[in-house]
Amino acid sequence: MGLADIKTFKNLEDDVISVNRCCACGACIAYCENQAFNVIEIENYTPKFKTDKSVENCLECGYCYYICPQTEPLLDKLREAHLVKDELGNIIDIFAAKTTNAKIKEVGQDGGIVSTILTYLFDTNNIDAAIVSEYDDSFKPIPKIIYSKDDLVKSAGTRYSISSNILPLKDLTQIAEDIISQKKRIYDPDQLRIAFIGTPCQCRAISKMKLLNIKPAHVISIVIGLFCFENFDYDKLMDILKSKTQTNPSDIKKTNIKKNFFVTSKDDSVKEVSIKDLDAAVRNHCHECDEFVGRYSDLSIGASGAPTGYSMILTRTEKGHSLIDSLLATGYIDRFIIPADQISEWQPKKINWLKKMTSLKVKK
Ligand SMILES: Cc1cc2nc3c(=O)[nH]c(=O)nc-3n(C[C@H](O)[C@H](O)[C@H](O)COP(=O)(O)OP(=O)(O)OC[C@H]3O[C@@H](n4cnc5c(N)ncnc54)[C@H](O)[C@@H]3O)c2cc1C
Repeated sequence: MGLADIKTFKNLEDDVISVNRCCACGACIAYCENQAFNVIEIENYTPKFKTDKSVENCLECGYCYYICPQTEPLLDKLREAHLVKDELGNIIDIFAAKTTNAKIKEVGQDGGIVSTILTYLFDTNNIDAAIVSEYDDSFKPIPKIIYSKDDLVKSAGTRYSISSNILPLKDLTQIAEDIISQKKRIYDPDQLRIAFIGTPCQCRAISKMKLLNIKPAHVISIVIGLFCFENFDYDKLMDILKSKTQTNPSDIKKTNIKKNFFVTSKDDSVKEVSIKDLDAAVRNHCHECDEFVGRYSDLSIGASGAPTGYSMILTRTEKGHSLIDSLLATGYIDRFIIPADQISEWQPKKINWLKKMTSLKVKK
């Protein structure tokens, strides 16, 4: 491939953004800003050139195109690197578990596993920060860098709209400065150790960056993927919820999906909306996504297939596997005990179930 063949942000606009395939993960912006190229930004979930002049200033390095989770290049290599042989990807172990932490049990979406992993990583000084998602005052998900386990309570739970979790990586110097001011220690931005939490598409972007060995993914020390059937456009979702439940976004406390969509208000009343009624709000890029449990992460975590109150955990890499082993050994999480008469069929059944969910997603 000659330099003239390299795809650039203009191609990304044509092939992904203008045709509504962008998943708004923020990878293109994070890379570009991290290099101080300063030519693109994201507005209303849409990456774009900052100004007309930015078009001329673009160095046409092409990285934004190649790391985009929605583009084809690198996918073969990614599959190879992650030992992906089928729709579920590489699985070392699959089991259900739940947190033993009472506070996280209250606020976690399912088994509170993600927040407990982060608690453990902070407790054992294995990370300096984590990228999670929080809500703003109008119940809009926003990506957030947290520096301590005390901030986990606000971030626990699932947000069913885009949280551009790769975006905060655009300014590692700022992250290092925040840590210095909070922890009073000196940090080299390139030595940061950050845990990344994201949907399958976001993990795919981080993994593409890691495959190319480029900044800012070099500071991601662990990738925790969430199962994801689909994600919703924030404005459309809120409009539908308002018309179906008469609940204003600022009055919502929590949402969750158990076959249908449930809205818990701040006064603790719960309203149910048929999941079919939300079809019009599903993000377009989700229609072509073939990952339900994700494939490109150290761990994948979701509810599907787990007993109530537990999360399913798929360990995918040695790093992810030994991390979960440590949480089990130190009592941070409890493994679901499979009834004696189900031991031999439990795992194959769960794998079949997750394959079925993946094919349902693909068909939809
Ligand atoms: C859009 C979406 C759709 C999902 N669909 C399914 C599904 O169909 N089936 C299924 O089994 N599981 C699904 N999940 C995963 C599930 O809802 C839980 O997140 C998962 O089981 C982990 O629960 P937990 O109690 O261990 O996590 P918790 O301890 O509650 O932690 C959840 C973590 O996820 C982060 N997070 C929340 N929302 C987002 C977001 N939008 N983007 C990035 N990070 C986020 C939080 O900040 C927190 O760190 C979905 C998740 C998302 C974000």
